[in-house]
Amino acid sequence: MNLRAADPDIAESIATESRRQREVLEMIPSENYASKAVREAVGSVLTNKYSEGYANKRYYQGNRYVDEIEKIAIERAKKLFGVPHANVQPYSGSPANAAVYFALLQAGDTIMGLKLSGGGHLTHGHPDVTFSGKYFRSVQYDVEADGIIDIEKVAELARKEKPKIIVVGTTAYPRIFDWEKWKNIADSVDAFLLADISHIAGLIVGGVHPSPVPFADVIMTTTHKTLRGPRGAMLLITDQGLAKDPDMATKIDRAVFPGLQGGPHDNVTAAIAVCLHEAAQPAFKHYAKQVVNNAKVLADTLLEQGLTLSTGGTDNHLMVVDLRPQKVIGNIVAEALEAANIVVNRNSVPHDLNPPFYPSGIRLGTPAITTRGMKEKEMKTIGEWIVSVIHEVSHYRLPESKEEWGTFLKKIRLDMENNPQLQSVAHSVTLLTKKFPVP
Ligand SMILES: *Cc1c(COP(=O)(O)O)cnc(C)c1O
Repeated sequence: MNLRAADPDIAESIATESRRQREVLEMIPSENYASKAVREAVGSVLTNKYSEGYANKRYYQGNRYVDEIEKIAIERAKKLFGVPHANVQPYSGSPANAAVYFALLQAGDTIMGLKLSGGGHLTHGHPDVTFSGKYFRSVQYDVEADGIIDIEKVAELARKEKPKIIVVGTTAYPRIFDWEKWKNIADSVDAFLLADISHIAGLIVGGVHPSPVPFADVIMTTTHKTLRGPRGAMLLITDQGLAKDPDMATKIDRAVFPGLQGGPHDNVTAAIAVCLHEAAQPAFKHYAKQVVNNAKVLADTLLEQGLTLSTGGTDNHLMVVDLRPQKVIGNIVAEALEAANIVVNRNSVPHDLNPPFYPSGIRLGTPAITTRGMKEKEMKTIGEWIVSVIHEVSHYRLPESKEEWGTFLKKIRLDMENNPQLQSVAHSVTLLTKKFPVP
């Protein structure tokens, strides 16, 4: 029985979500459109199988073909990134980072990562609410007021705090990482260096961002962002990492299973193999290049029209618009853009005084719209639309008391849906997106 017959409600919701993904400009920089081949693997019969363990060492019978698939995924990952060891089993990025800490640290050891408000991830030691800040001693570096990480300050903090691991990698940093400088800091205090390339893995594979492979000890990447695969993650170990700790590969594998996980999601493993195959094709290099070119044109358009971008622009796939000059918060602009069929997310800006739920900026990027084939010309148009939407809603002022913000935002959502200017942009977006099919 197919889904429509078995469960019309869910089938209908998926169909409407599919239409939404087609009609809007999907500009959340951590999102992308996976290929039909990738989705076919995710939806395959592999979801039926249990395979605890690793190839040739399973705790379950019947894994002959799963072993083949996992070995292919591992070989492709090693080849594509040029590393001696890969683990493709982590369920997603957060458990993969947990596995690294579990493998290399003891509870209470010091983790050093970037603050969430500066663009770090929750799993980089965010205090109080995450395992990474609760079970480890977390010290955090931050970006400067202009949004740039001051590497000298990072070095100083490392010398003072002697972390056991330094995490570098972010969710909202529009600039290139100079991995060698990070390696030198890590080496100077005898720390491991974890490069979390979740956002930029596709750019690295495509040759438009330097690779951390010669410098980091361990690399974590999600597979569903610029890499354009299924939701999942991989852990890569470098020669440098193995030189620091010859048992690192075993430790990491054991931390993933049985340390933190049970049976791997074999359907996802197969889809990761497919995405790695796709990413190894020449067409993927063009894609990655276009992602960056598009982001540049989009950023330039926003700047020319008077917006403020954190760090003053972008070198990669994303940008953060600082809305403090417009005196409007990210929630209002993100809602307005969604009413205009442009989907971004609200995001903290450097040294944001607002709480993360009501931040002062938005984050947007080009990976998904580039997958649809959009180029520089479309970026100019989209940039102008974004600016016009921001102008349309920048007169909204939040109530004095923070308690009233939630109700206020709910109330103005209706205003936005009925706003003719936003409706007109929404209509133009639909006309544009019709010309650029999703995979
Ligand atoms: C997305 C991301 C993660 C976490 O990935 P999930 O799959 O959402 O758990 C970790 N680190 C960075 C830098 C990310 O961008």
